[in-house]
Amino acid sequence: MSFNKLNPLRRINKSLIGAIDKVQSSIFTAPILIVTLVLAVQLLGGFQLLELRFLDKLFELRPAESLDPKIVIVTFDDKDIAKVGNWPFSDEIVARLITKVRSDKPRVIGLDVYRNLPVEPGFEELKKVFTSTPNLIVAEKLVEPSVLPPPYLDYKKQVGFVDTVVDQEGTVRRGLLSIQKPNGELVYGFSTKIALQYLESSNIFPKLSVGNDLAVTLGKTTFSPLDAYQAGYASADNGGYQILLNYRCLQGCFQEVSLKNVLDGEYPKDLLRDRVVLIGSTAESLRDFFYAPYGKIPGVHIHANLISQIINGAIDNRPFLQTYPKWLEGIYILVCSSIGVIGISSFLRGGNLGKNQFIVGILSFLLISMLILILISYISFLASFWLPIFPAISSFLLSSVIAIIQLGEKFRYASNIDELTQIANRRYFDRFLMKKFQAKQDLCVLICDVDHFKLYNDSYGHQSGDTCLKQVAQAINKSVRSGELAGRYGGEEFAVILPQTSYEAALAVAERIVKNVRSLNIPHKSSKTSNVVTLSCGVACMTAEDSSSLDLLIKADRALYQAKEQGRNQAVGYNMQQ
Ligand code: GH3
Ligand code: MG
Ligand code: MG
Repeated sequence: MSFNKLNPLRRINKSLIGAIDKVQSSIFTAPILIVTLVLAVQLLGGFQLLELRFLDKLFELRPAESLDPKIVIVTFDDKDIAKVGNWPFSDEIVARLITKVRSDKPRVIGLDVYRNLPVEPGFEELKKVFTSTPNLIVAEKLVEPSVLPPPYLDYKKQVGFVDTVVDQEGTVRRGLLSIQKPNGELVYGFSTKIALQYLESSNIFPKLSVGNDLAVTLGKTTFSPLDAYQAGYASADNGGYQILLNYRCLQGCFQEVSLKNVLDGEYPKDLLRDRVVLIGSTAESLRDFFYAPYGKIPGVHIHANLISQIINGAIDNRPFLQTYPKWLEGIYILVCSSIGVIGISSFLRGGNLGKNQFIVGILSFLLISMLILILISYISFLASFWLPIFPAISSFLLSSVIAIIQLGEKFRYASNIDELTQIANRRYFDRFLMKKFQAKQDLCVLICDVDHFKLYNDSYGHQSGDTCLKQVAQAINKSVRSGELAGRYGGEEFAVILPQTSYEAALAVAERIVKNVRSLNIPHKSSKTSNVVTLSCGVACMTAEDSSSLDLLIKADRALYQAKEQGRNQAVGYNMQQ
């Protein structure tokens, strides 16, 4: 069809109906393709960094939790070290500290300080204190360069590794509960050991969950090891038994007392009783710092958070940071994608908007929807569920943009076509003609009018009239070639633009059209011209140099008038002498 060949949107489809169907079906299959694409990007790690940063923001935004009364941290900073007067602290100082702490009857003591080598004076004394304090857990470092625990400790009961899993960009978001050494031996982390020992005295012991040999039930909580592709992670190194850390807050979630004050006995009575007492450095010079979602924090705070998470999970069912199954994340992404398509489609369908209103409307829709998605992730996080945001936003934006492009094309196409006859409408015809005028080339125009059409309507009804117009339009459309344009000029009038065509050739086209319409053999019993539907055409041409181009339509109209005058069912050319 020539219109389709000329139309800038001709690639969409041959007919408008087909085009809309095709566009709509592609629009609604798009979400599935987009979800597949987005999931692939997610699994390949395309969103990981952004997702982890967003998770950090969620931690920052979440209201701080209350102080955990079960944990007290005995800290020492550079000032305390200066006051004590040496580093590493002598064995005597450590022995005094542990003796002091244990005299207050804490449940578990965690010493986040390496004591691999004797630091005289006080070696024998410290050994005595360590071995006589069964509720003391001492740090070791497994990863090279490793730091061994004091050799006289009961390794199975009193030693835990403090190695930490750090994400690629340097932040600690996971807790490492245990690992299996190359010799197959299962060893527990410092925090795990402290938490388990604390819970033992409440008669809570870890149990392997039935049906899932990796899930562990501990009191009121059950947890599973981190999957390499869990939530925002993609191919994360999930060696050992890792869980997501559910940090309590930025600061002030644990009671702290300085080592110097403990040594001097300057702290509230009962501060340490029945608690987990962690002893660790906050000294800048010792560089035992890590990046948490909130920024730089001392290593001992990471342990405090992990211990707090395990203990409170088991006792009070404080949630671990949980995630949704991947299939559910997939459905969520699909929903986001569909919202993009449905939202944009209904927006574009709803009423005639000006260009600015349209842009503002679309941008507001996109912005508000994205804010809602962020809000959903935040609300989910408040319930301790980490819902990745970037796959959702990407699929929403991608499908919205595709919907805008596709529907925009559809509407542009629809705005150029006459709904009844499915050929170019007057608007498109005028624009096409204007372009040809501007191109300053030889040009002919045909205006054709159905003969006695009012009588046709009177005889057969308006509906049959419509059908007749459709047939006539298609007959005219078939009579023009590539590069030419047939359009509905108005009512039962049609017009044809024939670029770079001679007057004689144009007249021949007009005659062909008259013949083709007559050959449709549509009965017209009340016609005063023939017993079938006929058509009259007027032809007018201009040359490239012609300055009176705008008269072209008037001339064609006059020729048409003449054709009517001469008995209809014929084509008449505009004669210069007229
Ligand atoms: P003439 O041979 O002189 O052109 O006579 P005519 O009856 O065709 O001319 P007139 O201009 O008097 O009437 C045109 C008719 O075309 C009147 C109008 O009802 C009808 N018409 C215009 N548009 C449509 C349409 O979309 N559908 C139908 N069914 N009829 C239409
Ligand atoms: Mg008419
Ligand atoms: Mg007519």
